[in-house]
Amino acid sequence: GAPINPSSIDPLSQHFPLCMRNLQMTLRKNSHLKHFGRLQYTLFLKGIGLTLEDCLIFWRQAFKLITDDTFNKEYRYNIRHAYGDVGGDAIRRGRGYSPFSCQKILTEHPPGSGESHGCPYRHFSVDNLTTLLQTTGVSDRDVLRGVKEDVEKKRFHIACNRVFEWAHKGDIKRVKEDDSWGAAELDTIVHPNTYFKRSYLLKT
Ligand code: SF4
Repeated sequence: GAPINPSSIDPLSQHFPLCMRNLQMTLRKNSHLKHFGRLQYTLFLKGIGLTLEDCLIFWRQAFKLITDDTFNKEYRYNIRHAYGDVGGDAIRRGRGYSPFSCQKILTEHPPGSGESHGCPYRHFSVDNLTTLLQTTGVSDRDVLRGVKEDVEKKRFHIACNRVFEWAHKGDIKRVKEDDSWGAAELDTIVHPNTYFKRSYLLKT
């Protein structure tokens, strides 16, 4: 597996789907994320294998503008809660919450102004989406046009898969040719953590 620790998140974020890339970039830009952004991102990071201890270090370091005291009072509990380290019996027995699927991110808690959670394919304007894609290195005009058509038809996760397939086309060809990946392993992605895992495995 990937070496997952607080300092590997930035380099690994090249393998993150756009929703999580956006959260990571916004976090670096503002040294802060609002509640649902923290929750969506914490659970994703938990899903890629970041331990609770490392997750606390990650957020503490990222929130550069606040004191330890504020961090401990206002943020620590929710992170521990997401991991099932605190909370009611059911939460702790189930070890907290599962990382959100695309379905959940697409349909629940749409982001308001100043919030960065959600799915950029669903919640961004086409212009802002195109800019974000270009910022992350998606420059191909056909792909950008395809994404635009997908989102106009409200096929948001298809747009996401289109970008994945374009970004990994050489690697996908390779694993198909040498038969190391079957069709099932290349199914449509419907979970951000699948996106990460697949991207990471294809590149290594
Ligand atoms: Fe994230 Fe899913 Fe949207 Fe892709 S389709 S950006 S993985 S929520």
